[in-house]
Amino acid sequence: MRTVIISGGSSGIGWATAERFASGGDQVFNLDVRAPTEPSNPAVSWIENDVADWSAVRAAVTRVAETTGTVDVVIANAGISIRHGVLELTEADVRRVVDVNLLGVLGLWQAAADVMVRQRAGVLLATASVNGARGYPLYADYNATKAGIVALCRTFALELSPWIRVACVSPGAVLTPMQLAEYTPAMLDEVNARIPAGRHASPEEIAGAFHYLASAEASFLTGQELVIDGAETAGA
Ligand code: NAD
Repeated sequence: MRTVIISGGSSGIGWATAERFASGGDQVFNLDVRAPTEPSNPAVSWIENDVADWSAVRAAVTRVAETTGTVDVVIANAGISIRHGVLELTEADVRRVVDVNLLGVLGLWQAAADVMVRQRAGVLLATASVNGARGYPLYADYNATKAGIVALCRTFALELSPWIRVACVSPGAVLTPMQLAEYTPAMLDEVNARIPAGRHASPEEIAGAFHYLASAEASFLTGQELVIDGAETAGA
């Protein structure tokens, strides 16, 4: 049984991923600002936590390590988006997006890496986005944070090899509360039509990728971004 820490595990991709690991026999700790929106597997424990608060994150990781003896897999998944054009965005909103999406990954990975380096083993994962590698209007700050996660992934992998593997998943459109909050019913059909696969991913399809990346099947995979987008960006 592995010890898995996930951020943003109370909803969407994070919830499905926490369930995937727990149903496979792992013990999962979910760092999230709010409680799960759906009932969780008893093997998933919610720790109320804001990933932008590095000292709170470090305290939570230390507590998990003391409780279980190890930290085997960390999935930095918490993220927010604010729809605003480049002429309208405010400093406070942008700082919050960067604090949660980018610094929230860095702080959690660093706290976990301290434990993993002592163990000489561990896997660091995160949720980036296809929008880190392309322009996408009204989400300039969000897109920049996702590009930043890929950059963190590469450098963490170089510094922490050979003991620790590092990878990120870049989903395209996934049907989650975050995504649905931005859509009118017409938009859902429009987005489906421009994805060669003809639909959004389910959160479970992203969870499966995390489960693979954390497994021994992926033992030589590190420093990489895995794009899962139904070929949405394949022709770019
Ligand atoms: P979601 O809104 O359903 O879930 C996000 C979770 O993160 C929520 O439980 C929320 O409470 C938590 N969270 C937010 N701020 C937090 C903070 N400061 N500290 C701790 N937890 C916090 O969204 P989702 O669609 O499942 O998104 C999960 C990740 O996937 C995000 O990083 C998002 O950017 C990324 N992503 C989503 C899509 C998509 O289409 N849904 C596509 C690409 C990438």
